[in-house]
Formats: sequence, C-alpha cells, structure tokens
Amino acid sequence: MAASSNSSLSGSSLSSDPEDYQPPIWKSYLYQLQQEAPRPKRITCPQEMESRPKYYGREFHGMISRESADELLAGAEGAYLIRESQRQPGMHTLALRFGLQTLNYRLFYDGKHFVGEKRFESVHDLVTDALITLHIETKAAEYIAKMTTNPIYEHLGYTSLLKDEAAHRLSRGRAEPRRVTFQRDERISSPLVRRSALKDATEKQCSYDKVHNFKVHTFRGPHWCEYCANFMWGLIAQGVRCSDCGLNVHKQCSKLVPSDCQPDLRRIKKVFSCDLTTLVKAHNTTRPMVVDMCIREIELRGMKSEGLYRVSGFSEHIEDVRLAFDRDGDKADISANAYADINIIAGALKLYLRDLPIPVITFDLYSKFIQAAKIPIADARLEAVHEGLLQLPPAHYETLRYLMAHLKRVTMFEKDNFMNAENLGIVFGPTLMQPPEQNALTTLNDMRQQKLVVQLMIEHEDVLF
Ligand SMILES: [Zn+2]
Ligand SMILES: [Zn+2]
Repeated sequence: MAASSNSSLSGSSLSSDPEDYQPPIWKSYLYQLQQEAPRPKRITCPQEMESRPKYYGREFHGMISRESADELLAGAEGAYLIRESQRQPGMHTLALRFGLQTLNYRLFYDGKHFVGEKRFESVHDLVTDALITLHIETKAAEYIAKMTTNPIYEHLGYTSLLKDEAAHRLSRGRAEPRRVTFQRDERISSPLVRRSALKDATEKQCSYDKVHNFKVHTFRGPHWCEYCANFMWGLIAQGVRCSDCGLNVHKQCSKLVPSDCQPDLRRIKKVFSCDLTTLVKAHNTTRPMVVDMCIREIELRGMKSEGLYRVSGFSEHIEDVRLAFDRDGDKADISANAYADINIIAGALKLYLRDLPIPVITFDLYSKFIQAAKIPIADARLEAVHEGLLQLPPAHYETLRYLMAHLKRVTMFEKDNFMNAENLGIVFGPTLMQPPEQNALTTLNDMRQQKLVVQLMIEHEDVLF
C-alpha cells in the first residue's frame, strides 16, 4: 500500500547553496483520500416517531432491531440512521454503513453529539467526520504509521540559512505545491514564511529550550502538518496547534516535535501570570523584564529604604504596575515620576514572582529543596541545595541567580534598610517556593524550610551560582 509519492521532500538533502533550495512540498495523498471518502446519506424514517428526542431529525427510527437497521442501510456506503436500543430504552445507536458492513456506535448527546472524544454540532457532521476517518485510516493505515519517519520539520528550519532572500522567494509563492489543488493559496505559504521569520529571530535569541503548548484545534479549510507535511484530515479537531507560537501539527506528530517553541509576542497576551520560559522567549531576553526592570529601579533609588521588601506598598498601586507591564511590556514606566514609593516596585516584583504559574523553584523540585533544608550538616545541606539549583529550567535558574545577587546587595545596606538574609528569607520563601499541592498544613510545616532555603541562597550566593 504505497502512497503516490508526490513528495519532493525525500530529496531534501540540505545544500549550502541557496540556489539549490527547494521549498517543501505538502503531501497530497491524504488530502485526495479525504476527497474520496464516502459522503453521509441520511436514511429517514417514513413516519414521525413519538419517542424521537428533539435533537435528532428524521434519521431517528425508534426501536428497530439491528437486523432491520442493516436492511435499511444495505447497499449504500455512508448511509446512516439512529435507532433506540431495545434492551436499554433511552440509549441510542448510530448505525453507519462503511466497508460493506454496518457499524454500530453508542451515540451520546450533551448539547453536542459524540461517539468518542470529538464533539459535533450535528449528527451529519459527526457522520461526515467518521466516514473521513474510517476511509483514511483503513486505506492509509500503513502510510500514516510511517508518515513521521521523514519529517520536513528540520527542513523548514533550514530557511534560516537563507535569510531574506529565501524568505522573499517563499513569500513570492515558490512554496506552492505542484500537485495539490488548494482552495486558498495563502494557507500554504504562510506557515513557511512565518517559520522562516521565526528562525531568523532565533539567531539573536537566548538558547533556552521551551516545549510547545499544544492544544487540540479545529482548522477551517485544508491544513497541512508542519512536522510531516501531510494533510490533517477530518472535519473537526484535525490536529493540534501550539498556543504560544502557532505551530500546526498532527496529534501523533506533536510528540516528536523538538522543544524549540519560539513564542509569538502577539499570542502572549500578558506579562504577569505568564510562564517564565514562555515570557523570556517571547521577549527575547534571558530573564523576565519585570525582574530586571524592578531590580534596576530598586537599586537606583531604594537600597536604603527601611524595610525594603517587608513594608508593603499600596495594593492598588501595585495592581497599577501589573497592568502597566501587561499593557506596555518593557515600555512600562515604573520610574520615580510614576511611582514615588519604592515599596510599590518591590511589591510588584514580589507579586510577579508569586503569580507565576510555575514558581521560580518549580513544583517538581519543591520537595527536593525542602528536604535539602532539613539536612543538619551545613556542608551537605549546601551541596543538596546546589544540586537542586542545577536541575532548574535555565530561565528559572538565571532569574534566581540574578535575584539572589540583588538580595545579597540589599543585605549590604542592612544598617539602613534593616534587611538581612534571614528576614528576606521570610519574605521570599513562600514567594519563590510553593508546594505542588497547596494545603494549609504543608504550607505551615514548610515555612521554616522555605525561609532557610532562600536565606542560604542569599548568604552563599557567590558559591551556589
Ligand atoms: Zn510552540
Ligand atoms: Zn504530521
């Protein structure tokens, strides 16, 4: 069972000469198969059934037997009807003719129609999708199993070597496939152009890995997988899309895509409460700009402020700073003109750290740090903390390193600000460390260790980082 190999991708050995560059060709085999899938044929019931639920139409035949359903559907691929179970009244079965046999599915409705994971507005849509899926997955089972073996994904990345010239050519339509008929051409070139643009940006990028944030997606119009170049079949939920960078791939391909997500600023709506790695990649920085900007401002005019980080600023003003960052990003004005009280800036920094969806010391490593703090021998304790630090995601590590160097400098002004590693530990412990499962008891039990971990990191900042 071989696909008509219309792919020129097999010849995608990379050449250093931009002139030899062949843009990837989307593979049309599965698209053609989808076009050939049987269409739904509704078999209607000649008389109105009293037991018909209002969300079914005349395809509802009431309590007929499996055999009568079989007879009604006989002969026509794609023919379907709904019958009520004779053994379990109130339960409904979708009977569908495919591959010269009648398939029976338990049919559900909860505002949408479904027989499995996918949910549909109408039974007609459900049957259309089922027929496409059945047709493609029976005809092309082998092809689908192998479609990820020669991915074009790296090939798309190759466009970075070509810089503007290739991007220009791609956008001029050389990426158009030769043997596929599309309804709208811009669908084809856009992902390529987008990825080539992204890869260009990557060159001056911090090198942190970031996993893609894939969510099941319903594509309008034909779409091709940007990993394997094959068509994404089906009527709805044909594949997944990364909410951070917009990469579109098959669900099965999503497991093979490397952790090279480059978030698109237009998709990242907020600064606060945004995943730390996602934010730094989106803004092309090594640390969240909130951390850098707040620390710069505090070091400029707040180091001698009594009770720095302990005294809280007005919460409305702190909220204001949050909104300014969410709205203006690194253009946010947090100068003395905007906020004279440095405690507002310190408060905003604490709020930022506390509101991270994954704390700076990640949920995964939380208990490792708590356990480390419990070690009685000082050297072994420090060693265990160090080990934990090395396991942090790079963007988290870098943020923590920078913050601890700053807090160390804060303690050098202790005679003015009355802040030392111990009371900063009390302030920052629960801000930087949160247990994966929040409950009042663990929070209370762990407070001592949280404080100690931060205190140790400040005191031994020079050896730990
Ligand atoms: Zn992504
Ligand atoms: Zn794919």
